[in-house]
Formats: sequence, structure tokens, C-alpha cells
Amino acid sequence: MAVRLDDIGPLESVLTRRPFGLAADIDGTLSPIVDTPDTAAVTPLCRRYLREIRRRVEVVAAISGRAPKVARRLVGLEDLVYIGNHGLSWWQQGREETLAEAAPYETKVRDARKDLAVRLNLPGLLLEDKGPILALHYRLCADPQAAREAILDALVPWKKQGMRIREGRLVFELGPPLDIHKGTALARLMETYRLGGVLYLGDDLTDVDAFKMLRHWREEGKVSGAAVAVANPESGPKVMEEADYWVDGVPGVEWLLGAIATAVGGKQP
Ligand SMILES: [Mg+2]
Repeated sequence: MAVRLDDIGPLESVLTRRPFGLAADIDGTLSPIVDTPDTAAVTPLCRRYLREIRRRVEVVAAISGRAPKVARRLVGLEDLVYIGNHGLSWWQQGREETLAEAAPYETKVRDARKDLAVRLNLPGLLLEDKGPILALHYRLCADPQAAREAILDALVPWKKQGMRIREGRLVFELGPPLDIHKGTALARLMETYRLGGVLYLGDDLTDVDAFKMLRHWREEGKVSGAAVAVANPESGPKVMEEADYWVDGVPGVEWLLGAIATAVGGKQP
């Protein structure tokens, strides 16, 4: 069970390790939860502290379910690593790439988009092309419940072809049937940058995969690290159970990032 973090003393042994990496989810962690994802915004304080931390440590990464270019626009810092689509797509050093195992599915996702645009006649439905994932947002449909049913029906042939369907809040995602998630993304990040210290921040179920991966690496003695849950009305008990520490909402994250910036040598206001 996560312990409330109100000073960063317990993180000292993690923060002093090098190379050090900070990885954070975006929605609900760096930006407050909003009803329409398009209006989400990373807070100025989070951005400022992330920039300061980045100057002093080897890697700062944003890991999100969003497309990397959207994640990059939201955070607004150039020298971060942006891991999008729950680990399928990476943006680093000016280049975006899809993991090799997911790349073959991009054509299939494009075909699905054409097919669904014809078969689904739902005013308000928004099809978002995220590379290896197609997102179907139905929050603007007049009758979301009816839209949900119609989308599920229309997705049947694609499911039969082996594609994976994930359901989120007023959205379905069609993507590759691969075991790739924020946990595998974090493992890849730790491996690529040979991290000795890692801090991971996240607020929802998809982050639990990363919490578990970090714990596994720690137990194997490969890394010194801690998982911090960001508590909000949607985070749920599992998130609190699997993390090492917790902070209260985005303001708690702002406090923590400010304290980390100071600890690793950045400047306080
Ligand atoms: Mg989140």
C-alpha cells in the first residue's frame, strides 16, 4: 500500500543514483482531468520543474496513451522522451518511431479507418489516427450509448482479424494484439538509458503496469526506484495498492517535481 509522501527524504537514495530517469504519465498526473481530452493542459509549474529537472538528469520521459506528437504538444518541452500509444510509439531526439513489432499493423489500422468511416454513419464520431492505433471517440455523439453499441458491432470484423480492441472513457481503440504497455515501455526506457535511479508517476490503471515493472526491476537489484501514485477521484484502489508512495492530485505532483528539481540541483522560485 502506498505511503503518503510529504517530504522527499524517502526518495533520496533514488534521486542520488546516476544515470537518473524521471518518467511521468500526462493526463491526471501533469494535467488535471477534464471532460474533453482536447482541453487538457499541463500546468505551467509542472512544465517549469520538468524543464529544470531535465537540465540536471539524464532522461525525463512522458509516457501516455496519447499519440507522441500530442503528448509533445501538451508538455511543450523539446528535450524529453515522449512515449505514446502506451509504449507503441516513441519520439526521441527529433524522431518518431513505431516499435518494429507494431509497424506491420499500421496498414491494417489505415484500412480499418477507411472501412469504419464508410460503415459507421454516426454524426459526432471522431476517428483519430494515432499511427498503430485508431481511436474512435464518441463523446460528441447525440446518443453515446447507441453509438457505443454501433461501434462495437462495426468492430467485430476487425476483432476477427486479430486486432485488439480497448475501451476507455467514451472511446474505443483498435490496435495491434501485442503485449506492450506502460510497463514494457518503462523497461525499454530503463534499458536504453541504463538507468540506475528511476521515479515513475502515474494516476490510473494503465500506470499500474509500470509500477509493477519498476518493482520487479528493483527486486532484481537492477535499479533503485520508486513508483508514486497520483490520487484523484478516478485513480481507484489498485493504483494506490501497487505504488510505493502517493501524492494528492496535480498540485501534489507540482510540489513533488519542485522538490525533485531542488534535490537534483535545480533552482526554487
Ligand atoms: Mg493518467
